[in-house]
Amino acid sequence: MLLSKNYLFTEIEERVKKCGKKDIINLGIGDAVRPVPKKINRSYVNSAKQMGAKSTFKGYPPISGYQFIKEGVKKRYKRFGVSLSDEEIFISDGAKTDLYALLSLFSTSTALIHNPSYPAYADANLIYGNRIEFIKSCRQNCFLPKPCDLKENYGNGYLIYICSPDNPTGVVYDKNALKLWVDYALNTGSVIIFDSAYADYIRGDYPKSIFELKGAESCAVEVASLSKTANFTGVRCGFTVIKNQFTTDLDKLNNLFKRLKSATFNGVPFVSQKAGESALINVGECLKNTDYYLENAKMMRAFFNDKGIFAVGGENSPYLFFECPCRLKSFDFFDILLNKAGIVATPGVGFGSGGEGFMRISGFNFRKQITEAINRMDGLF
Ligand code: PLP
Repeated sequence: MLLSKNYLFTEIEERVKKCGKKDIINLGIGDAVRPVPKKINRSYVNSAKQMGAKSTFKGYPPISGYQFIKEGVKKRYKRFGVSLSDEEIFISDGAKTDLYALLSLFSTSTALIHNPSYPAYADANLIYGNRIEFIKSCRQNCFLPKPCDLKENYGNGYLIYICSPDNPTGVVYDKNALKLWVDYALNTGSVIIFDSAYADYIRGDYPKSIFELKGAESCAVEVASLSKTANFTGVRCGFTVIKNQFTTDLDKLNNLFKRLKSATFNGVPFVSQKAGESALINVGECLKNTDYYLENAKMMRAFFNDKGIFAVGGENSPYLFFECPCRLKSFDFFDILLNKAGIVATPGVGFGSGGEGFMRISGFNFRKQITEAINRMDGLF
């Protein structure tokens, strides 16, 4: 099956253009709006200056990342009780690149993907010609499907995608539920691709890394990002972790990944890695940043709760997933929200058929816009 046309955002753009409104509040975005925190930006600027001086200029970076940023990643994981060694860390230019690159490491050709989910998982597997089996993620299973929700046994060895906190639903797996997936992967010879892009939004007692769970070291790969932690969507820096215990018939998986990266990638810019190191060290600045978006999300969650509208997320995530009133379909309610309130949210169906009847709304905007959006929605619900 070939990639289909990405109609979602084009369709949204066209509908926004057509409505002719000027004062639109965009809560459909999954992009950061605030600047890079000051201290972190200082590292970025200083490293750019280094590139302009003969004595400090840097050429090609090491394929898997500079030692200085790997030390930052190690410190981060230490806070979760996970110890890492250098060869287990791969600095990336963000999570999306590695979500795709990883696929060439596995002979497994069936992917188990939540429906709804972040579209890049299905897209990457479609490009690879893999078979995709969707796992129903719905109100009944609290959008946190477990292995017992699988319809059938699809044969042995799958690529299982888990995003926690999840995009688009904003829900987060607890240790017990995540452990079920780790055990399932170990029992079926499967691989878990764990996307922790929103881990820094967790405030409750939930795992921030899959490696907090015993057994994950030999069946999981973790793809992480600083995009939403430190407003790095334009800086581009993240990291992927593959533990030494993950072995294959050929070699350790991290050795194979290094080989793959050497063949296809020339490393992450020095300036991005310097900014990344700073983000990993200046935890307080990142916390202030994620707290800001979280407060936005919490305000919207409180609004939906007050109105008796079913919503999940928004507590350990910048995203909320809410049910359209009157059983309306996603795009029908999108039009009402746009034309009557001048608000853009993302139709849940754009993340898969399982999202039909829901909308994703995001806290990635400024407080003034969030307050105004809540006021406008007050007249609508
Ligand atoms: N994973 C999820 C769940 C995301 O929502 C996003 C971005 O929106 C990414 C990965 C990609 O992040 P990056 O900017 O690090 O490529």
